[in-house]
Amino acid sequence: MRAVSAVASPLRRLTPLTTRQTSRRCFSGSQSVQAVWGFIGLGRMGYPMAKNLRAKLPIDDTLIVQDVNLEATKKFLQENPDGVRIADNAREVAEKAEAIITVLPEPHHVRGVYKSMLQPPTLLKNGTAKERLFIDCSTIDPTTSREVANAAHSSGQGKFVDAPMSGGVVGARAGTLTFMIGAAPELVDRVTGILQMMGRRVLHLGEQGAGLHGKLANNYLLALNNIATAEAMNMGIKWGLDPKALANMINISTGKCWPSEINNPVPGVVEGSPACRGYEGGFGVALANKDLGLALKAAKEANVKLRLGEPAKQLYDDVEADTQCKGRDFSVVYRYLGGKE
Ligand code: NAD
Repeated sequence: MRAVSAVASPLRRLTPLTTRQTSRRCFSGSQSVQAVWGFIGLGRMGYPMAKNLRAKLPIDDTLIVQDVNLEATKKFLQENPDGVRIADNAREVAEKAEAIITVLPEPHHVRGVYKSMLQPPTLLKNGTAKERLFIDCSTIDPTTSREVANAAHSSGQGKFVDAPMSGGVVGARAGTLTFMIGAAPELVDRVTGILQMMGRRVLHLGEQGAGLHGKLANNYLLALNNIATAEAMNMGIKWGLDPKALANMINISTGKCWPSEINNPVPGVVEGSPACRGYEGGFGVALANKDLGLALKAAKEANVKLRLGEPAKQLYDDVEADTQCKGRDFSVVYRYLGGKE
């Protein structure tokens, strides 16, 4: 009996008929059409996402994974032996799978991986293969994303959707991520069905690129709120206020924000926060700084005037360069400012 997945149907009728899959189908004796999925980038986010995807797919489906880090693919296959194949390169994934999810660090990685997948433009050459669906969950700049989308669309090889996410590694493991997607309206149901295997909410913000614009606007605000919270807490504590009393007051007042309420930078204020464990784990300062840089770049390209962005970027650069702060949760800004721990 096939595992039931309410969201796997988007691929049922799209299986490519490569030699290996044809023989596999005969071997299994299954009458149902099997689907082949691709996943590229098994890092901190991608690994648990691919694991959740594999767990929710029908058992007869195949998930082809690829990462330049061979340790990651090897481990993935060991931990998920059923219905998983490792591809040697991104092109092989694109040749065999019809829906491909990418979770890569930076714009140049995304550009490189999609170039390998789309060149030469012969993915559909055998006449039976259907258009690919590419879903990129990486946080990159909207311009690079648009270039990659154009390459997919203009070559007629597939449709491209930007689907950056929030929820961090904890959300990726728990399958509770929120995805913000930029997609043509006719793709939304299908993409939502796929992403819901790895997350809880899928928000369609508009045409291709809109997901990234939403994500970067949010993370710009988050980066600034984080600095402002660290400064306000530091200020109040230096004036002699009790840290918990100050945070409680802020969190029922107009200054309330995610960094003040959930991720307060002062140790002891919010139990279980990164600040309470030496700023370990959480949302790394390098990632926060990367997203801020992407937001500034995209704003500049659109002639959007920002007054706070550049000084904030300079501060995060300095925090990242500080050995007491590097590699820690971004609330470590409070430590950088000399806050009492
Ligand atoms: P990561 O660095 O842990 O993982 C990236 C993976 O991509 C690595 O395994 C790496 O080997 C692989 N990779 C790099 N180049 C490749 C290539 N050319 N071909 C195949 N694989 C390649 O990064 P992450 O933390 O998983 O983040 C991935 C993306 O998600 C980033 O864009 C990040 O900004 C975004 N994001 C991260 C978080 C988070 O909390 N970590 C939260 C939201 C969004």
